[in-house]
Amino acid sequence: MYLYTSIFPGTFNIIAGPEAKVKHKQKNILLVFWMPIGYNSSMALYIDVKYLGFVSSALPLFKRKSDNLWNFRCPFCKDSEKKASKARGYIYARSQELFFRCHNCQYGTTFYKFLARVDPTLHKEYMQEKFLDSKGEATKKEVPVIPQFKAPVFGLRPKIKLDKISDLDSQHWARKYMQGRMIPVDKLHLFYLAPDFKRFVEDMGSEKHKDLKPDDPRIVIPFYDEEHTLIAFQGRALVDNKIRYITIRMNSYSGPLIYGLDRVNKDSPVYVVEGPIDSIFLPNCIAVAGSDLNRVSAMFKNPVMVFDNEPRNKDICKIMALSLSKGHRIVIWPDDMKEKDINDIVGSGKDACSIMMDNIHSGLTAQAKFAFWRKA
Ligand SMILES: [Zn+2]
Repeated sequence: MYLYTSIFPGTFNIIAGPEAKVKHKQKNILLVFWMPIGYNSSMALYIDVKYLGFVSSALPLFKRKSDNLWNFRCPFCKDSEKKASKARGYIYARSQELFFRCHNCQYGTTFYKFLARVDPTLHKEYMQEKFLDSKGEATKKEVPVIPQFKAPVFGLRPKIKLDKISDLDSQHWARKYMQGRMIPVDKLHLFYLAPDFKRFVEDMGSEKHKDLKPDDPRIVIPFYDEEHTLIAFQGRALVDNKIRYITIRMNSYSGPLIYGLDRVNKDSPVYVVEGPIDSIFLPNCIAVAGSDLNRVSAMFKNPVMVFDNEPRNKDICKIMALSLSKGHRIVIWPDDMKEKDINDIVGSGKDACSIMMDNIHSGLTAQAKFAFWRKA
């Protein structure tokens, strides 16, 4: 199966080919590239443009504006959070090389560094080809053929092909487990069941599966960004396992791991907790994987930091103190409360949301409450 495509008109463009049956998902597609007649034949520029074609599938709203100018949403500042149509990232040619510039965050760099940040794996191939080019070897081929390259998936996003917990039979053990943890029925669709987590990780294209053990069923908790692109997922152990949570990042994503970004309203108070499952029980709530809630608080106008109830945990106390020094509103749990986190509170039949709302403090009151709480 041969697929003929030009890299120049921005997106996937089929030019010719008698045997060319075009199927996006078809594997083992051989991509054949050529340059239009009259195009400046600088090989350096040619390679840059070729790799821009490869990486374009990862760049939202990617389009070619003119001969040597391409436009898309900036992958670094994510462009505008409110306007999904904003695209202020540009790639342009200068002195036979491509460069990147964002007119929103003003970040500018060479295509070389741009590619390294956006797709490190592809960058390695690019460097190899560039290196060969400088020695004048790879350039001799009239038509470079890259058989190992996967078919581009323009517009397609990694999708989780598992059963949602909400789709399982009401007597299914995994569904019963989630209900036993008091997860509301109307939130069960946010979770999936991976009967074999190792295989699922492999199916999602992550190398991490090599470190995992087989036959380990887990609840899959997907992390999406504002545009509902999967950035990571966590697998929560369902059977006795030393490792309760395993977090897998999607290959192209290197930003902070925040759960619930696809559902949060940034203009209202945003409650920030540690665990994704805890976040389910609070309104307009996000969770950070790991416990440095301060790192993500800057993303929101009106964050309320909800730490676990662990006054003996020095790390948590340190982060709380820092949060207070930044002037955040924070939740300081009642001194007599035994439960360690939101899920615990819900599990003991209490209303976590109203307890939390009653214990939000800021400024001097918060300082005083905090000093008392950590000694309690
Ligand atoms: Zn930008």
